[in-house]
Parts: sequence; structure tokens; C-alpha cells
Amino acid sequence: MTSSADAVVIGGGILGVSTAHFLAKLGYGSIVLLEKKTLAAVSTGHSAAAIRTFYSNPLTIRLARRAVEMFSNANEELGGDCGFNQVGYMTLLSQADLEAGKQVIEMERQAGIRVEELTKADVHERLPMVDLENVDCAILEPDSGYVDPVKTTRTMASSVKEMGLDVFEGVGATGIRLKNGHVDAVDTEEGTIQTSVVVNAAGGWGGQVGSWVGLKYSLRWSREVDIVLEVPFETSAFPWLSDPQIRFYTRQEGPRQLLVGLGFPKEIEPLDIENYDQNLDDSTRERIETCLRRRIPSSEGSKLVRGWASMYTITDDWHPLVGPEEQISGYYACVAGNGHCFKLGPPIGESLAHMIAGKPPPADLNQLRPGRFAEGEYFKSVWGSGNRA
Ligand SMILES: Cc1cc2nc3c(=O)[nH]c(=O)nc-3n(C[C@H](O)[C@H](O)[C@H](O)COP(=O)(O)OP(=O)(O)OC[C@H]3O[C@@H](n4cnc5c(N)ncnc54)[C@H](O)[C@@H]3O)c2cc1C
Repeated sequence: MTSSADAVVIGGGILGVSTAHFLAKLGYGSIVLLEKKTLAAVSTGHSAAAIRTFYSNPLTIRLARRAVEMFSNANEELGGDCGFNQVGYMTLLSQADLEAGKQVIEMERQAGIRVEELTKADVHERLPMVDLENVDCAILEPDSGYVDPVKTTRTMASSVKEMGLDVFEGVGATGIRLKNGHVDAVDTEEGTIQTSVVVNAAGGWGGQVGSWVGLKYSLRWSREVDIVLEVPFETSAFPWLSDPQIRFYTRQEGPRQLLVGLGFPKEIEPLDIENYDQNLDDSTRERIETCLRRRIPSSEGSKLVRGWASMYTITDDWHPLVGPEEQISGYYACVAGNGHCFKLGPPIGESLAHMIAGKPPPADLNQLRPGRFAEGEYFKSVWGSGNRA
């Protein structure tokens, strides 16, 4: 274990790895990334990894647009191929969703994103197996899609090894030392690293890491399940399909395979992050399959290939906490991905790394500052109350 570094990043999910990746690319010096399990072992590696821009506030749309750009040029932007399948992202809209949907389209177009408005007949032509009951129209983002989350994380970490990043898997951080209000060192299971910069990217454990320097983050956790089914129809032309009425999403996973999960707006299924069931349970499986059968009746008789449970780490407005904490110089939060931060990880990491290095960030992340709730500032959604971002 090295005894000093220019920056220490705690957490080897997409948020920590992205921040470390861009710090290294900026020539920040020696960067140590500590991951107590293995890279992408928790939320990141279990993500459905949608790369889409269908959000209802300008900052998230801007970051998501940058994500599409980064994944489209992954060799140059992220250090290698991340397995981007640009299958498109289609959201089905009911009459009740039309007004809010139009606001989203307008915001996306203002951000320069290609968006197509599809009639019911267009959707039927593309996806004849989908029952369009209560669907008025759909929105298609042709440039969106999904990637391989583990490959992305490992690629982003390994590609900057020569630029100063040292990754330690199986080594947890155990404390942060301060000197006169400045970060001075990080304690680990294998010794102490002197450093003046620490990034808290510990995901579900972000509150614990923050508490080492006296910070309190209000976080909740929800168990989240995805399943992969072998379906009785061809899926090669299947886009990402989001259905806010029946509240599920699905996308192709392989030939005649769909990945399916419960979609926004969501209920929370609270969990103990140290001890929760990471296996697929029968009742959630049944719920997911019922949603799919309602929209795609011919999925009846599908065979389960696999399924898993992982977690969302959730803030009070379902957006992450990113940025410095005024009272602790050298400390930066990059915590709580909620359901969106696989895709937002690389663009957030890029801008946070610029902030740490004292360079103008490509995106102004001030709206994500960790202290926003104390100032009464919360992200709002055009979908009204609820957690649809
Ligand atoms: C089922 C599911 C589907 C999802 N689908 C999507 C999607 O389609 N699109 C999307 O954008 N997002 C999606 N998400 C959300 C996305 O995966 C998360 O927002 C994102 O992965 C969060 O990344 P993270 O780096 O904050 O957390 P994590 O990946 O959990 O990483 C945090 C890491 O910190 C490590 N750690 C904690 N404490 C310490 C310590 N003391 N020392 C060292 N290491 C420590 C942990 O071991 C962990 O590996 C999904 C999530 C789930 C669960």
C-alpha cells in the first residue's frame, strides 16, 4: 500500500472510478482508488445500464446527453470499448402524460438531442407484439441504448493506469484524518495514506464515510430487481422500452432475451445494506413478469434465464450529492446514484475532476451540491410529485 497520494477516491463503483479516471487524465498526479470489495461489485455491476436522456430537468438532460456522447466515442472518451448497444430508448405516453412529455421533448431538443415523436401506428409497426392499450403516442431517442456496466468500470479504471491511477481492490477505507479543517490522510485496512484530497464515492456507505468528518447525509436504500427472460419472439430490433403506466422497463439482452425491471415512478423497498437478499425472490419475479405480460401478452410462457437484486442509494430529491463541503477543505462528495447514476457517472466524474483540479468544469454541478437540502433546494420534476426524474 502506498503511503501518500495526491488524491484518494473511496469506492470503486462508476462514480468513484469515473472521478479517478478523469483526475488521472487531467494529469492530477498520483491517485489511489480504494474499493473494499471488487470494482463494480455493488449497484454499478447490477445496473441495467440504460444510457438515455429522457429526464425532466436541464442539468440531468445535459449530463445524460454528454453520457451518450461519451459512450458513442468510448475508445477516445472512456479509454476503450464499453459495449454500447445504441438500440434507442422508447417511452410510451398515455393521454395523461402528454403535457409533461412535451415539456421533456422541448428540453431535450433545446439541449440538441435527437428525439422522434411516434404515433401509436408507428409504435405498432416497430413492435407488433406490444399491446398499446391506453398508449397515446411514444417518444424515441434513437441515439440512446445500454452498455456493459462491469466492462465500462474496469475499462475506465485500467485505461489510466499509466497516467497515475492505482486501484486497490479488497482494501476498505476506515477513516479520514483532518488537520485544521483540511483533509490530511485516509486510513485504510492496510495502512494510512497521506493526502490532501479525498472523494467520498462510497455509494450506499457514503453516509458512513461522511460521518468520519462529521457530515450527515440523509440517505435511504431500496432493493431493486432485474430479471432476464427467454421470450418466444425475436428481440434483435427491440429498443429500450419504458412504460410509466404499467411501471416497468425492458430491453433486449441477447437473441430472444429481454431484461425486465420495475420502472418509475417507484415504491421503495427498504433494506439493510449489510444484510439483504441479493437473490431473485418469487414475488418480485411474478410482479415483473405480470407487468411484461400486460404489455406484451405473447411473453406468456417466457423462461427465466437469471435474476438478481441490488440496491439504489436514494437522496431526498432522487438526485446525487456532488461537490465540496465548505467546512472541510479537500473533501468532495460524489454520493447516492439513485436510479440514474450509471449513465451520469462518467459526465459527473469528468466535471468533478475538473473542479478538484481547479479547472473550469464542462458542466456546472452546483445544483447537485450536497448542502442544497439545508437551503431548501430540491430538484423538481415535470411529472409532479413522486420520484420520476
Ligand atoms: C437493478 C439496478 C438497475 C439500475 N439501472 C440503471 C440504469 O439503467 N441506468 C442508470 O443510469 N442507472 C441505473 N441504476 C443505478 C446505478 O447503477 C447507480 O446509480 C450507480 O451504479 C451508483 O454508483 P456508485 O458508484 O455511487 O455506487 P456503487 O456501485 O454501489 O459503488 C460504491 C462502492 O463503494 C464501495 N465502498 C463502500 N464503502 C467503502 C469503503 N469504506 N472503502 C472502500 N470502498 C467502499 C462499495 O463496495 C461499492 O463498490 C441501477 C441500479 C440497480 C441496482
